[in-house]
Amino acid sequence: MPTMVNVDGRLAGERDAVVSVFDHGFLFGEGVYEVMRTYRQRPFLYEPHMRRLRASADRIALPLPTTDAEIRDRITATIAAAQLPGEAYIRLLVTRGIGEIGYDPANCPAPTIVVIVKPHVELPPEAYADGVKIALVSVVRNHPDSVNPLIKSNNLLNNALAIQEALKRGAAEALMKNHRGELAECAMSNIFLVEDGAVRTPPTTAGLLAGVTRAFVLELAAKTGIRALEETLREADVATADEMFFTSTTREIVPVVRVDDHVVGSGKPGPVTQRLRAAFAEALRTV
Ligand code: PLP
Repeated sequence: MPTMVNVDGRLAGERDAVVSVFDHGFLFGEGVYEVMRTYRQRPFLYEPHMRRLRASADRIALPLPTTDAEIRDRITATIAAAQLPGEAYIRLLVTRGIGEIGYDPANCPAPTIVVIVKPHVELPPEAYADGVKIALVSVVRNHPDSVNPLIKSNNLLNNALAIQEALKRGAAEALMKNHRGELAECAMSNIFLVEDGAVRTPPTTAGLLAGVTRAFVLELAAKTGIRALEETLREADVATADEMFFTSTTREIVPVVRVDDHVVGSGKPGPVTQRLRAAFAEALRTV
């Protein structure tokens, strides 16, 4: 049973897992989520993911009375039931819950908590060996005073529209600007540029998700002796970058060798990206 779902503590197969159409997650996209993955069958960086889930929930005034330990037990039970041949992809969703149609949160007495466990699927090895193409899309990342990108929200239309544009251009990811025209992040990952040996990524004030992998990579850079800076980046910086990569939980560190028609640096994954990838792999040996 490779896909298993846990809805409010009850296990179900992918065909039987149901949530009410009166759930405000379905009606209004009101909810938050996390994506984690396992290494050696254990969820990686569980604590930072749970901290971010609670921070996202706080930002939409969504109470989450269930403890981190209880949620971990549900994840463990769901992984065990899935009997996966390898590592797990874990999607944890918390919605406003079931209630009368209307925006008043008082309509919904309890949140709905869903855990989806599926086999983790790796990107093809060529993506890491040769790098990928991304597209700088016209879809602007949500304004932080609107749906703040710091909220890992189940309402993913902004991201979905950006990816649609990237796919039409044959790109693997969509790089988005913010309302000021600065680089923000990709639709499913955080962006990094390398210039003169230093790694640069936009600050969270640019309007982006504080990626758990982004933070992990910034720490790895510090430990590896690579200068890493959070600073405002613009389209012009792409033209002068020696290397680029994006980061996410499921993809780790992916070298970017083209942004639309522009070839980044040498057109091959660069040495700083490779060093960070090696440091990542080394760190995983001890988790
Ligand atoms: N930015 C966005 C918009 C994302 O959706 C994601 C992951 O899904 C990320 C960044 C990367 O975050 P993380 O490293 O926590 O997976």
